[in-house]
Amino acid sequence: MKNFGYTIQNDRQIDYDKNDTKLYDFVAESEKSIRTCIFCGTCSATCTASKFTDLSLRRIILYLKRGLNESLKKEIESCMLCGKCNLACPRGVNTRNVILNIKRGIEHYEL
Ligand code: SF4
Ligand code: SF4
Repeated sequence: MKNFGYTIQNDRQIDYDKNDTKLYDFVAESEKSIRTCIFCGTCSATCTASKFTDLSLRRIILYLKRGLNESLKKEIESCMLCGKCNLACPRGVNTRNVILNIKRGIEHYEL
């Protein structure tokens, strides 16, 4: 086959039916407002900790939804639970409680 210097990219489709959503379900059970998140990133833009660390609450919620629980564990440690993101969220997500419940879920499932 002729080499054109590029290839077809691997499929990056996300199959939500195959995701491990137990942690997401655990959080959504006690903090229902997480279901209204539209991943706009306002929380991450206002987060003080994100200026000094890799913390991004938007990414954490995305990981949570995709069942990538291992990936969010380290990142969430940088959160100071200050609640600033809570004030900025345009969808009224109780982000501070979301983070608290993620931490509880990690302990609960011993992730
Ligand atoms: S600001 Fe609110 S809606 Fe936007 S990504 Fe953060 S939690 Fe989701
Ligand atoms: S509660 Fe955590 S994620 Fe939200 S602004 Fe404060 S440090 Fe950032």
